[in-house]
Amino acid sequence: MTQPEASAPARPVALVSGGSRGIGRAVVERLARDGHDVAFCYRSDEQAAATAAGLARAHGARVLARRVDVTDRAGVRAFVKEAEAALGPVDALVTAAGIVRDNPLVLMDDAEWDAVLRTNLDGTYALCHAVAFSMMKRRTGAVVTLSSVAGTYGQASQTNYSAAKAGIIGFTKALAKEQGRSGLRANVVAPGFIDTDMTASLDAKVAREMLGRIPLRRFGRPEEVAALVAFLLSPHASYVTGQVFQVDGGIAL
Ligand code: NAP
Repeated sequence: MTQPEASAPARPVALVSGGSRGIGRAVVERLARDGHDVAFCYRSDEQAAATAAGLARAHGARVLARRVDVTDRAGVRAFVKEAEAALGPVDALVTAAGIVRDNPLVLMDDAEWDAVLRTNLDGTYALCHAVAFSMMKRRTGAVVTLSSVAGTYGQASQTNYSAAKAGIIGFTKALAKEQGRSGLRANVVAPGFIDTDMTASLDAKVAREMLGRIPLRRFGRPEEVAALVAFLLSPHASYVTGQVFQVDGGIAL
């Protein structure tokens, strides 16, 4: 970890789940570029994590990268504690860790349902639960949770993912209402189809069909999602809370 100059002004601290790849990595890099120190977690891909950490350090950020499965609540709590000890209290939280296990409901097995709900929805709960008290005490803090257009409109073969992502919307709105008086803001970013490993495995025919439904006629880039996340965490969004923002090329129109 690079130590800051003794006289350097304190950088806000961001914590990002799923920060090693895709949208999470773009968020890590963008927040580092915008002046944050960043702690992020990932599930297994050490090499991707090292790349993400390097990108953030190149912007002068102090970085803490840890292999923590968001379905492990004790692990999440320990990670937040370690991040606060190393970097300072968490000012901004982004819950980007997510997975898909697609299948029509009649073919879905319990493991596919459980894995998606536990990672996407329970993982969001675990992260928010671990930082909320400190944010409440400090009367500050901003949270951005990652949902999906599947959570707002439903997606065939994704009953598990759509349920988890819709749950994240309800959870985030409730959090915004509950903690607004403490100065905590919470908003949802719901991407459409973004070019990451998650969409790389899409069947070519399905991908073509989806492209045809997107007015901008292309998938989004992770950086385009990160730009919205960064805005929502910034003072520019100081009067914005409890909202759902779609970054989807217009697919939901
Ligand atoms: P991605 O490229 O597959 O990256 C997923 C990230 O989450 C990786 O860093 C991965 O770490 C981490 N992760 C997965 N399971 C985890 C767990 N149990 N504990 C900790 N970290 C875990 O995904 P993405 O496309 O960037 O998606 C990011 C978020 O946006 C997700 O919540 C996703 O549902 C949402 N989203 C994506 C799209 C899209 O089109 N890509 C659209 C709508 C919403 P490892 O590599 O170590 O496993």
